[in-house]
Amino acid sequence: MAQPTDRTRSCEYDVAVVGLGPTGATLANLLALEGMKVLILERDADIFALPRAVHFDAECMRVFQTMGLSDALLPKLFVGPGMKFINADGKLLIDWQRPTCIGPLGWCASYKFHQPDLERALRARLAEHANVDIRLRHEAFALEETVDGVSIRFEDTSCAKLRHTTARYVVGCDGARSIVRRFMGTELDDLKSHERWVVVDVLLKTSRPDLGDYSIQYCDPRRPGTYTRGPGNRRRWELMVMPDDDTASLQSPEWLWDKLSRWITPDNATIERSAVYTFHSVVAKGWRNARLLLAGDAAHQTPPFMGQGMAAGIRDASNLAWKLSTVIRGDAEDNLLDTYEAERSPHVREFIETAVELGAVIQSRPCGQTPSDEEATTAIRNFVTPQPKLGEGAHLGRHDPLAGNIARQPRMSDGRLLDDSVGYRYALIVTSETRKEHPELDDLSALADVVVVDDDAPAIREWLSEVDAAAILVRPDRYIYGIARGAGAELHALLSHAFPQLLPVNT
Ligand SMILES: Cc1cc2nc3c(=O)[nH]c(=O)nc-3n(C[C@H](O)[C@H](O)[C@H](O)COP(=O)(O)OP(=O)(O)OC[C@H]3O[C@@H](n4cnc5c(N)ncnc54)[C@H](O)[C@@H]3O)c2cc1C
Repeated sequence: MAQPTDRTRSCEYDVAVVGLGPTGATLANLLALEGMKVLILERDADIFALPRAVHFDAECMRVFQTMGLSDALLPKLFVGPGMKFINADGKLLIDWQRPTCIGPLGWCASYKFHQPDLERALRARLAEHANVDIRLRHEAFALEETVDGVSIRFEDTSCAKLRHTTARYVVGCDGARSIVRRFMGTELDDLKSHERWVVVDVLLKTSRPDLGDYSIQYCDPRRPGTYTRGPGNRRRWELMVMPDDDTASLQSPEWLWDKLSRWITPDNATIERSAVYTFHSVVAKGWRNARLLLAGDAAHQTPPFMGQGMAAGIRDASNLAWKLSTVIRGDAEDNLLDTYEAERSPHVREFIETAVELGAVIQSRPCGQTPSDEEATTAIRNFVTPQPKLGEGAHLGRHDPLAGNIARQPRMSDGRLLDDSVGYRYALIVTSETRKEHPELDDLSALADVVVVDDDAPAIREWLSEVDAAAILVRPDRYIYGIARGAGAELHALLSHAFPQLLPVNT
């Protein structure tokens, strides 16, 4: 990837990332691929130890693939077959099947994982980039805009020394209680779901195939709960806190074993860790304020019923990294950064609202009564994972129904997956005939750093033919910018729209 050229060197860093959770680590990895000079400030010494994410989807895996991490992750993953919602009588209310074969994005729909494994892999990859400066036990506490950057004050908590640096942009990946969000003055839109749950991870001592590979949502009004299997011998239960629970004892071994006893006992499992969480449903109103931006839990939080909280942060990182790098290199005006919230906010909101709806089925609806079962069954029986489009932004939007959708990832003739041959760049997918007829595409490729893919693999030809396109332009984050039905004026119009600085309209 080209090194940044067109920018002042008055700031020490191109981007400072506050917070090294999965969002910050993904963002920093992608920025590093773009050749950005990145500082990461992380308050804690170690990776967060309490139970959190257990599932990510094909789109996340594709982002990890872009960083070159998929091979390292695969041995530690388990492909999830889906989720069943059952009522107190054991009646199936919702059957949410996830195909376990490779899907259109080049990966499976649902991977089960152990969040610390993923975070370790992300950090190991980061450590390989000379342009990334990772500071653990460094807490950001003040941000101030300067003429061409942000002044950042932080504390090295290992020795209580106060320090200062500057960056062109600061991204707050600093979680639910984000300090960056406070400095931006951003408020949260509250989607009104705040429930307390106990989450407990266990390690099986003996094989228990009877527990099953499906996740189960127990829609039992006496105590709503969730079972999910992780990779290897890890199993997770989530138990809703009920009004008459003694909150002081919620994490005691006695309380936990009592509640788990219908599935497991100390004879066949050990408790690895547990935590009590309040699951919030919020979306920030204002993800950018000048040179400050938000990503991940700092920008949105969701109940975990769809396993989409971390996934949304990974999508944020993938959406933002190429835009920040393009602006910092001087290849686009900084209003490109305004498309970040415009595109991502409605997308994440759809997942959160769906999770809140599913949560209502699990948590509070009287699922034991027949009319409610009927309602739930008819309302959600055909439930499939939503795949929303991006909001309006850096794509053809309303002019093109495919624009703003995630692109497929077919295999090429040489067996490689499409993204592996493209890298973290734009890709223009055309037939080999179109490429031959339009030699000027080579100039575009050189000028705009677009990879022209003219591979005749059947899956690529089928894709072009199914969407009736001569060309499909895919952004670095793998979302479709737009398609051209014809290889002449329409292709030129598409490219002019995407790269106006290189190809003025009507030339
Ligand atoms: C029980 C549970 C189950 C879940 N299941 C799933 C799931 O299956 N799938 C899924 O996708 N998501 C799931 N999630 C959500 C997921 O875990 C979170 O969305 C994700 O961890 C958020 O990542 P993040 O990087 O945005 O924030 P965090 O992981 O919270 O990281 C923020 C980091 O910022 C640091 N920080 C904060 N302030 C400062 C500061 N001032 N200076 C420096 N550093 C700072 C913190 O120390 C922290 O390391 C679940 C969550 C819970 C609680």
